[in-house]
Amino acid sequence: MSEETQRKTLEFSHDEMREIGYRVIDMLVDYYRDRAERPVAETLDHAALEAILSEPPPRTGMPWRAALEQFERQVVDSSNRVDHPRFFAYIPLANNFIGVMADALAAGYNIFNAVWLQAAGAAQVERLTVDWLRQIVGLPEGAGGTFVSGGSVANLTALAVAREIQLGGDTSGAVAYCSDQIHFAVSRGMRILGFAPEQLRNIRSDANFRLPLGGLRAAINSDRAAGRRPFCVIASAGTTNTGAIDPLADLADLCQREDLWLHVDGAYGAPAILTEAGKRALTGLERVDSLALDAHKWLFQPIECGVALVRDRRWLSQTFRETPEYLKDMQSEGEELNFMYQGIQLTRQFRALKLWLSIKVFGLDAISEAIAAGFENAELAERLLREAGVWEIVTPAQMAILTFRYKPANGNEEIADRVTHDLVGRLLHDGRAFASGTQLRGKPVMRMCCNNPRATPADLETTVQLMTRLAAELEAALSDVPASD
Ligand SMILES: *Cc1c(COP(=O)(O)O)cnc(C)c1O
Repeated sequence: MSEETQRKTLEFSHDEMREIGYRVIDMLVDYYRDRAERPVAETLDHAALEAILSEPPPRTGMPWRAALEQFERQVVDSSNRVDHPRFFAYIPLANNFIGVMADALAAGYNIFNAVWLQAAGAAQVERLTVDWLRQIVGLPEGAGGTFVSGGSVANLTALAVAREIQLGGDTSGAVAYCSDQIHFAVSRGMRILGFAPEQLRNIRSDANFRLPLGGLRAAINSDRAAGRRPFCVIASAGTTNTGAIDPLADLADLCQREDLWLHVDGAYGAPAILTEAGKRALTGLERVDSLALDAHKWLFQPIECGVALVRDRRWLSQTFRETPEYLKDMQSEGEELNFMYQGIQLTRQFRALKLWLSIKVFGLDAISEAIAAGFENAELAERLLREAGVWEIVTPAQMAILTFRYKPANGNEEIADRVTHDLVGRLLHDGRAFASGTQLRGKPVMRMCCNNPRATPADLETTVQLMTRLAAELEAALSDVPASD
């Protein structure tokens, strides 16, 4: 191919395409091979990055090798390695290679997964993969869902369905209920859907950070008495903070009695139902009206793989179909395969492909074991922290998450607060392991999320030892200066 043609059509020769592809694979495999030996996080100075990564859009191109090198040096090396075996912060995102290749295939074949007539096989794979998830979480036949970018959009999509089906689209006086541990994606989603802040009641969670039934009932009764319209309970199946699971079965009973919609944010925790421990903890999940789930968290997919599930798959098209007259006579099977009417996207990536291929290649048994490893790792982390003697466990291992605080020998709460709070920055700076902090009841806590099955016992020991040493250093440094008031 002449250079002239290449420039006009934005193409490469077949040989060059292979060369680029092989180079990309080499980059990735080298990264996976060396990952555990590299720092978990390398913080590049923001100003320095701004200087080297700012330029006007170039009029002429550059060799692809050089562009890839810049990407590797400046972008990859300045990103937290969220799939590193000693990354325990936020929610670790341990993807898998088949999923990665599936994303390349979906992009490469550029499958337009919106209308079944245009890509019937892709629509069928999405429908099938959604149905596998339906079976996994225990929803009845007839339930359905759609792949979206992640948990935020899955919650938004499901709550849009609740608004349409439960409220007929009329939000006036409507009230939804959740605990104060709900993910901010839910409150943001409600705001986007046109609900005022007071239309989402944040009920103070109980001692175990769960939505309390008594408080919920009282809030519903007082809203009804005031003439408002309670319509939805939003529960968590594994909060991001502590892994707490709201009492799903009791909430399902209450919602049934009170004719309320039950939406569950299972973005993080729902996949745990594939394990014995998770199945016990998630009793009641099969009774939800809608569920948000993130396959890029505990189902090991590359980022942007969320799913919104609903108890009756027709609710999706009832909510998102934009041309009801034109489609009135077409309530066929086919329509439910038109994913452009199942959510807010028209042109859609084929996101189901990565989960479908992963489940086929590994099988559910292997995936269950990988999820179970997270439970075991969190229990080990808890044991190691207790043995270290300077940590107070605030919430024990639950859904592979635990929280803890530094416990100085003299029991001084202010020192505990400051060391616990400052430890995150010290870890980030150190780079050998990373855990993040959060606040529970206004107090700083450290938090480890252990859902990466590739974390070894040695990784957990290294991490606990490192935190223990850094915390002691922080405390020593504090006692050198007068305590602030
Ligand atoms: C991560 C998370 C979300 C948001 O999901 P994204 O994929 O980040 O958009 C919502 N709820 C919970 C419980 C989560 O852990």
